[in-house]
Parts: sequence; C-alpha cells; structure tokens
Amino acid sequence: MSSLWLLSVLLSVKGGLGDVVGALPKALARRGHRVMVVIPKYGDYAEARDLGVRKRYKVAGQDSEVSYFHSYIDGVDFVFLEAPPFRHRHNDIYGGERPDVLKRMILFCKAAVEVPWYAPCGGTIYGDGNLVFIANDWHTALLPVYLKAYYRDNGLMQYTRSVLVIHNIAHQGRGPVDDFNIMDLPDHYMGHFKLHDPLGGEHNNVFAAGLKMADRVVTVSHGYMWELKTVEGGWGLHDIINQNDWKLDGIVNGIDTAEWNPAVDVHLHSDDYTNYTRDTLDIGKRQCKAALQRELGLQVRDDVPLIGFIGRLDHQKGVDIIAAAMPWITQQDVQLVMLGTGRPDLEDMLRRFEGEHRDKVRGWVGFSVRMAHRITAGADVLLMPSLFEPCGLNQLYAMAYGTVPVVHAVGGLRDTVAPFDPFGGTGLGWTFDRADAGRMIDALGHCLNTYWNYKESWRGLQVRGMSQDLSWDHAAELYENVLVKAKYQW
Ligand code: ADP
Repeated sequence: MSSLWLLSVLLSVKGGLGDVVGALPKALARRGHRVMVVIPKYGDYAEARDLGVRKRYKVAGQDSEVSYFHSYIDGVDFVFLEAPPFRHRHNDIYGGERPDVLKRMILFCKAAVEVPWYAPCGGTIYGDGNLVFIANDWHTALLPVYLKAYYRDNGLMQYTRSVLVIHNIAHQGRGPVDDFNIMDLPDHYMGHFKLHDPLGGEHNNVFAAGLKMADRVVTVSHGYMWELKTVEGGWGLHDIINQNDWKLDGIVNGIDTAEWNPAVDVHLHSDDYTNYTRDTLDIGKRQCKAALQRELGLQVRDDVPLIGFIGRLDHQKGVDIIAAAMPWITQQDVQLVMLGTGRPDLEDMLRRFEGEHRDKVRGWVGFSVRMAHRITAGADVLLMPSLFEPCGLNQLYAMAYGTVPVVHAVGGLRDTVAPFDPFGGTGLGWTFDRADAGRMIDALGHCLNTYWNYKESWRGLQVRGMSQDLSWDHAAELYENVLVKAKYQW
C-alpha cells in the first residue's frame, strides 16, 4: 500500500497528546506513509525554514496573514503555521480567554485544511489524492467540519477523509450558541453544534460537530471508549458517541521506546543509577532503587517497598484518594515518593506529607522529567488511582521498567493492567474497581503482601510487564487499520 497521510494536530508538550503528535507520525512514516504534522507556530523553532508562502484567513471579521514554516525530522514533515494570534504562546498553548482560544482554533483549522495545497514539502505539495487528516480533541475538531462544509459538500476533495482522536472528552469547546456565528459555516450546520443542556438552555459544542463530521473516531483505549458511551463518562456527548458507534475504535497509545527504555534511559547514566534489561532486572533495579533512596535522602534499604506516584496534581489523578489513605500507608513499612505539580493546595499537601513523615515520604513538587524517569526505574510499585484516565502513560512506563502498577480500573488503566492471578501466574498488577481509599488500600495491601512473601510471583509480574510490546510501532499498525477503513469503508 503506498499512501499519503496528513496529520493535523496541535502541539502539546506534556502527556499523551504530545506523543501522538511526536511519536505516532514517526511510526507511521516508518511504515511507508508520507506524513505531515501541522502545528501552530507558538514559539521560535530555529530549525524551521520559511517556505515563503503567505495566505490570508478571516476570523470574526479580522484578517490574519498565515506564513508557513517547514522542517523534516525523522521522516516526518513538520509544517508550522505562523500567524499573529499564535505568537509567543510557548507552552501556554491552550491559554487565554475562551473566545480568543476559539478564534485561534478556527484560524488554525481553516488554514490546516488547506495546507496540503499550499505547503511544498521536499519540493512537492501533498495534494488531496490519497489524503487522511487526523485531528485531535476539540481543538482541531473543526477540521473535519470545514473539510465537509467547504469542500466535500461542493464536490471537492472527494477522496480526502478525516479521523478524529478523542484524548480527553472533558474539554469540548463549549460556549454560547452565538459562537456559531464566527465559524463561517452555512446556516444548516448550526444544528450539528447545538446541544441541549440537561438543566435547560442550549450551547454550542465544537467536539459534538467534529464527532459527527469525522469519517472515523479513535479513542485512546477500549475502556475509555466504553465509558464515553455512558451518561457518567460521556460528559454530555454520550448520545452522539452511541449514534456513531459504527465508526469508533479504541487504540491504546504506545510509548516512546527510545526515551522510556531502561536499557538506554539517559537519566540512568549518572549518580549511581544504571541501565538495565529484563536479563539484568534484579541487580539493575536494586541499584536504581538504592540510588533513588540516596538522592531523596531516604533510608537505603532493599527490603522496603518503594511506592511511586507521578502526575498532575489535580482531581483527575486521584491525589485525594492517596491523601485519604495516608494514615494507613504511613503505618506500613514502606517508602512513598510523589512527584507532581498542579493545584497549589495539593502541592502544599505533598510538602506536608513529607514534613510529617520524613522517615518514609517524599513530596517532590515540580516538573522534572529526570526525576520521573528515576522514580519509574527505582520504585517497586507505581500507584495510579486516577478517577478517569483516557489512556495513561505512567502505568505503561512503569511496566516497561519492571515496576508493578496498582491502578483504579478505569479507561486505559483497565485496558493495560490485567489483574494479577496468583493461580494462573498471569496478570500485570493490581486494580481496584471504585475510586476510594478503602479499595485502594485493599489492592495495595495485596500488592505489598506479594512483594514481601511471594518473591517468585513478584518477579513474574515484573518480567511479564517488561516483555510486552508497548511501542508506537505496534500502535501505529492499529492506527493504520483505522486510516485504511476511513479511506475505503464508509
Ligand atoms: P495526562 O496526559 O493526563 O497528564 P498521562 O499519564 O497521559 O497523563 O501523561 C502524563 C505524562 O506526564 C507522563 O509522561 C508523566 O511522566 C508526565 N508527568 C506528569 N507530571 C510530571 C512531573 N511533575 N514531572 C515530570 N513528568 C511528569
């Protein structure tokens, strides 16, 4: 199959969406596709070359000139769209007042849908011959809508398809119904955006329209796909998701195995840490654990289970559940290290935990990629009590490092952490089925018991975790199936 694919996405530097922008395109390129990533030019990317192309787009009566920059990295064309509303936002890519964010997204999607015509990459434009757009979340959900309203409804770009990936349904581009007026769409499109609120009234919903117009929809796990169809998990879009069931697929994100691989991890090169593989797991992990304990000023002991938590400090990540379980945790002979940034009250809470239990708890407030890698390598157990988790990456990283996950069985966590079965000798970790401290304590208790008393079972868990193919190459193959369905089955 020889194909051209165009990925149209927004740049995200943290979390799963960032990988879908970075690692998936490269994996698809390795499979022989021509791949472009389209990103607003938020900062100065020294390596990006001005293509000399200028186009003008109108949003809410305001004319913006868009310039096109290009760089070619690891087989992927990166095209940056430069325009005044995108300038100098750097990492604050979703920031600003709601109407400004919406105008930015309208401008981006209007320009992105035309990139295959205007941006010469390696001397030639992509054109629309064999093209599939991949849009991500509500921010680019307008792209499938513009593709249909501006082109396909008018007999143009007839062979072009669009796939919309749902990373997180919590953000939908909701606003007053008047929002529709600045989107420059025919009046009969209004109904696609309009949603009735349960408590009365109506609102304009960008994600809703994108879901209806996209040729295929991908969610970042099967578990999340299932939850999106329920009243509790669909955040108001469950009816639309159910009506479009036929075009849904769940694909778990891969991990970047160059970056998250204990055999080559650069963050394990120094300070007494060491790289290790499945074959050198025992000795390597013991050394990383001791190095982590030393670095954090904890007692260096191999026999004490070291439990890690890494994540944004907010309601979603279940930090409150850990807080409620703290009295129990601190009564056990364990060490706990929590790394995160986010809500100031939760950051204070981490500091307080450390202050009150200096002998066994560390609360590392900050964003440190190096520390995230070192905790993943040095910890025995990774705790992820997320209230919801569309895919989740940390549990995947943990398993790749022989660190056993204990997770709330939700979304992608349920997909990826098969519960340990001591009789069959199968499974990858422990799960608990309700997001409360009691359930988490039960699961963690079983986990610690196995750690202390059933060494062979523990080793089995670690080895099974490390033996999985969690790479993007595997996920890219599944994406390819969806892209082909989008292209040929509709
Ligand atoms: P989400 O996208 O909801 O934040 P994910 O589990 O998909 O959650 O991705 C989280 C990513 O962010 C992981 O790669 C994790 O290691 C990283 N991360 C989160 N908080 C921190 C932090 N304080 N320091 C370093 N990395 C972090």
